[in-house]
Amino acid sequence: MLYDHIVIRYGELSLKGKNRKVFINQLHENVRNKLTDFPEIKIKNTRDRMTILLNGTDPEPVMKICQSIFGIQNLSLAIKTENDVEEIKESALFALQEANHVQTFKITTRRANKEFPIGSQEFNHVIGSHLLTNTEEIMVNVHQPDIELHIDIRKDATYITSQKIKGAGGLPVGTSGKSLLLLSGGIDSPVAGYLTMRRGVKIEAVHFHSPPYTSEAAKQKVLDLAELLTQFGHDVKVHMVPFTALQQKIHREIPHGYSMTVMRRMMLKISEKIAKQENILSITTGESLGQVASQTMESMHAINDVTNFPVIRPLIAMDKEAIIEIAQQIESYDISIRPFEDCCTIFVPIAPKTKPKREKVILFENKLDVTKEIEEIMKTIEVVTVSKNSAVEGSMADLF
Ligand code: ATP
Ligand code: MG
Repeated sequence: MLYDHIVIRYGELSLKGKNRKVFINQLHENVRNKLTDFPEIKIKNTRDRMTILLNGTDPEPVMKICQSIFGIQNLSLAIKTENDVEEIKESALFALQEANHVQTFKITTRRANKEFPIGSQEFNHVIGSHLLTNTEEIMVNVHQPDIELHIDIRKDATYITSQKIKGAGGLPVGTSGKSLLLLSGGIDSPVAGYLTMRRGVKIEAVHFHSPPYTSEAAKQKVLDLAELLTQFGHDVKVHMVPFTALQQKIHREIPHGYSMTVMRRMMLKISEKIAKQENILSITTGESLGQVASQTMESMHAINDVTNFPVIRPLIAMDKEAIIEIAQQIESYDISIRPFEDCCTIFVPIAPKTKPKREKVILFENKLDVTKEIEEIMKTIEVVTVSKNSAVEGSMADLF
């Protein structure tokens, strides 16, 4: 006997009233896209859950992939049987024997199919007795069992499921619009991207780099981070912004205490332009309050001033340790700590103002004509689309 199905439960989806159908369809599509390497499987959804028919496919890699898909609350391996008492008995025994380190169990029967001749309570006993007779040193514990076997008797068939394995939670990517993620090579921004995607948001990324001060390796690091994020949703379009000329101008013409603030404002301004071009309605950053000079309340006030777009900051109230923990979990950490210079660290002044005044920034900026530089930047942005396994395509890539 084999586990032949995976049962997926939606969780938070069930709260979403009339959007429910949209959410379920999106989840179905996301699951299907993630499982294209397994042509034998079939996916079916009903109102309250989704089932994957494995058709002989090894369940382990499929379960692993499903665990990283947002919108799934939990999932279980399942055995599908006829509505036949003997078959159900054998399958339940198999499920119990397959589970590791189990000393106690509980049977919970749900009899949606009222034509099935045995009531749920009685059926719990029927199956329970069968398991007790055919195993050694395993007992029933209805309060705190090591394993709870669910027997779901439906019209067409019966499903026997064992352990519920935690899913990634959140909402299916694609149900909450799109955001433009400011992706540096650091630890924070990939985590911010992950958390935003977890709320059902698709992302594109923008990265500012300053060749020749920043290296090819630094750029590759950002593409690797973007590739990592693809596993939680979809291909990620990365806008590589050549920032050198503008940064040099800021460095030359703005008083040093204020150059960082102006540079950040320019980054946000250019990001908003890209977002508009791409029909994206928000910007996401990895900022965390008080972490560095550009992330004080005053700095954020002075920087945020250049855009009316909502700026999503999923990490704003998180400690660095908590951010690092997520980075390690999603395996972005090891990429992020590769030691390559970021454009912001190269031009950063020795003592950036931690409490810049918005009025002063505007005053300095008014004397700085950057129209030409920004025009030039918008014309020379390189677009790279990163997909799982990194097939790279894009406007500049096409040129070479
Ligand atoms: P990170 O670890 O994400 O680099 P950080 O703690 O180093 O963050 P900053 O360097 O001040 O903080 O950057 C704050 C945020 O600004 C980043 O999380 C990112 O969203 C954005 N950002 C910084 N540098 C760049 C860059 N070169 N390109 C795109 N976005 C950037
Ligand atoms: Mg950084």
